[in-house]
Amino acid sequence: MIFCKSVVPYIYSKLQWVLLCCFLFLAHGENIKRSDFPDEFLFGVATSAYQIEGAYLEDGKSLNNWDVFALSPGNIQNGDDGYVAEDHYHQYLKDIEIIQSLGVDAYRFSMSWSRILPRGRFGEVNPDGILFYNKILDELILRGIKPFVTIYHFDFPQELQDRYGSWLNPLMQEDYVHYAETCFKNFGDRVKHWITINEPNLFSQMAYQIAKYPPARCSQPFGDCPAGNSDIEPLIVMHNMLLAHGKTVNLYRRYYQHEQSGSLGIVLDCQMYEPLTDNVLDQEAAKRIMAFYIAWALDPLTFGDYPSEMRQYLGNQLPQFSSDERKFIRNSIDFIGVNHYATSYAKDCVHSSCSATANRSIKGFVDTSTERDGVQIGEPTGIGSLRVVSRGIGEMVEYLKTRYDNMPMFITENGYSDPQVEGEVEDAIQDFKRIEFHKMYMSSLAQAIRDGANVKGYFVWTLMDDFEWAIGYKIKFGLYYIDRQTLERTPKLSAKWYQDFLKNNTQTPTIRITESVQYTADS
Ligand code: BGC
Repeated sequence: MIFCKSVVPYIYSKLQWVLLCCFLFLAHGENIKRSDFPDEFLFGVATSAYQIEGAYLEDGKSLNNWDVFALSPGNIQNGDDGYVAEDHYHQYLKDIEIIQSLGVDAYRFSMSWSRILPRGRFGEVNPDGILFYNKILDELILRGIKPFVTIYHFDFPQELQDRYGSWLNPLMQEDYVHYAETCFKNFGDRVKHWITINEPNLFSQMAYQIAKYPPARCSQPFGDCPAGNSDIEPLIVMHNMLLAHGKTVNLYRRYYQHEQSGSLGIVLDCQMYEPLTDNVLDQEAAKRIMAFYIAWALDPLTFGDYPSEMRQYLGNQLPQFSSDERKFIRNSIDFIGVNHYATSYAKDCVHSSCSATANRSIKGFVDTSTERDGVQIGEPTGIGSLRVVSRGIGEMVEYLKTRYDNMPMFITENGYSDPQVEGEVEDAIQDFKRIEFHKMYMSSLAQAIRDGANVKGYFVWTLMDDFEWAIGYKIKFGLYYIDRQTLERTPKLSAKWYQDFLKNNTQTPTIRITESVQYTADS
């Protein structure tokens, strides 16, 4: 009897655990294979200039907005900066060898505006900057790796900030077009995929609403900044970025397309939202926030104007496009770049009470959270708002497919940051969770493709641990671990897994991933 009382529940509890493991293994650990994707589908890795290059004042590069931002204590966690970063400027050859060894088809990287045009339109092109990217492009092409070049990924010459306030001023459009044209002239013979701007939706909010990125402007209730207007400035910044994009694409199509035959897209932060409850108001809220965050950029570039939901809630606060502008921004993307990491819940604020920052027209009167009835939407990662919700990538491409007539899409970033920020190097390298993350997201993506989504490629964010903007080096997304003292690159298990996956070999990681699932069930 005593035996029954103590042992049976024990076995039963273990059985539950084993069943949970089996379930998680079957549900999550689906053995996704490269051959589950179309033959011409591209796999790659992605980086950005400021996050890896370093050499911040070498060979003619000028100070950029992030160099200056890092000078003020408190702007970047742990007092970090991008002055050395991963020293990619000096170690680019080694890094390209690493990229090649992974067996990827493509590499997405960005160019540093302040390395190519240290003073924007107000100075000369820096020949050493051109030389650097020529070497990178030549090496990639020699090794059969397709370059996907982001022209602008958050960093620009500080002079443009000091002279006229950068993206708040329409003058920035002209500077951007000049910079983009410099890139087409010098590199367009080899680049067939250009990305004009990385995440204008995220950048305008981070820099002009919550002041986490330079120039760190905001107003109450979003924050306490010396200057800014969190309700209006993100809209102006986006407007200038969309016009800069539109002008650039028109210029390319008119003068360069014929000879260079490249395609141009824009990359957005594509966070997915699900309704917090089944209530129709929350369902509407989820649709609204997608319009306020994603269609905000993509509707103008596809249909020529902002989404009607935004006009309804923002009225005249939302900038207007002239009829000429409408014409040239319409149909100005050849593909959508999708940076997708996570999914959150959306809750209506029009009919219920919400936080002060959510209950505003700029937010479409939508609040967001990662929790419903005390249950998290997905496992935590290193960044609080980013939860592991693999179905979200499928839902996101489905949303884009429907709204934008199944235009070609690339997953230009998808990646996992470890929740444990401190710890042994060994722990960082044994990154079972990262492998599991990519397998789960890829499975969801492959299903969406089977369901007809026109997705053409997938880039892992990121090649190596890097400078994670205002969070510094603490948060790690890389397939390679970087020793911050020696800057030595060490492959994590995920790098080996990706290499195997790309060879269509799924043997090696399977056992290990089961361990990762155990960890999931335990935690
Ligand atoms: C950016 C990257 C960043 C990543 C992870 C994206 O918003 O494009 O530069 O490192 O997310 O936070």
